[in-house]
Amino acid sequence: MKVFLPCLLVLILGACTPSSNQDNTSLNAADTTTTEQYALILHGGAGGATPEGLGEEGVSKYTAALDTALDAGLAVLEQGGSSLDAVTAVITYMEDNSVFNAGRGAVLSSKGIAELDASIMEGDDLNAGAVAGIQHTRNPILAARKVMEESPYVMLATEGADEFARSVGLTEVDHEYFITKKSKRQLERAMERDEWGTVGCVALDRQGRIAAGTSTGGRNNKLFGRVGDSPVIGAGTYASSNVAGVSCTGEGEFFIRLSIAHDVIATMEYKNLPVEQAADEVLSKLDPMNGKGGMICLDKHGNPAMVFNTSAMFRAYGNASGDKEVAIF
Ligand code: ASP
Repeated sequence: MKVFLPCLLVLILGACTPSSNQDNTSLNAADTTTTEQYALILHGGAGGATPEGLGEEGVSKYTAALDTALDAGLAVLEQGGSSLDAVTAVITYMEDNSVFNAGRGAVLSSKGIAELDASIMEGDDLNAGAVAGIQHTRNPILAARKVMEESPYVMLATEGADEFARSVGLTEVDHEYFITKKSKRQLERAMERDEWGTVGCVALDRQGRIAAGTSTGGRNNKLFGRVGDSPVIGAGTYASSNVAGVSCTGEGEFFIRLSIAHDVIATMEYKNLPVEQAADEVLSKLDPMNGKGGMICLDKHGNPAMVFNTSAMFRAYGNASGDKEVAIF
């Protein structure tokens, strides 16, 4: 009894601890040995962009932005920071950069407003947080992370999500902050364009922990209230430290219907496939439905997969060995 009593107390105290949404015992915990290995992969959306359409200036503008985002994330990992912090750093930067469809510069809904979605997940305890349709929190990814870390929930939506973000001290902005000349122009043309500038990131840190996140304004001219795959855990984002992490971009409705992000993890696990093969196999499920998009994945060894069925996907990858790749087409 003497031996069991302290254990019982620990169990009871553990069960009573509030805060984060799932206090799972690290079912999925990575091997905690510190290694030299770390890696990071990111995307800035997939779509129908072509070298001619984008022009030299466009290509260098996006390449520079992707490169800066990659360096921001790699710097966190290099210094021994967590994959969660690296993903947060990358996506915060991309949300603040108006060339991407996330945060400032995001596409607008049919009401002419930005309705922003984001999610984040860490792959050790499978904790996750998401926000949908927010309009005032400057960095939706930070709101998603707060939902994960400081609420008992996984997803908060619209005014309630903004109110929660304010209550935990996140920066609020006037709605006009999100709207740029480009996003207004896109809406005026009311184009349902074959282009998605959503941003996403997956990181593996030196402790072997995988985290993934995605942030978006959704689809141009979307109906007020529409929510895509980006804030849906299992559809737009998933992370599992003993398998891989995934972030998607494209026509969200298909990604939700096919649970794409989780399907990659499941395919790797159940079929024992390498990440690239699993990603290809899952992406091909979009074909019969005529769904368009792509995804980035990183397995537990830091191997990347960047697959898409569009002409372009803005993407970048880097790791501890100094391998670096930034590409669009
Ligand atoms: N997947 C996002 C959505 O459907 C759009 C994107 O990837 O740009 O909301």
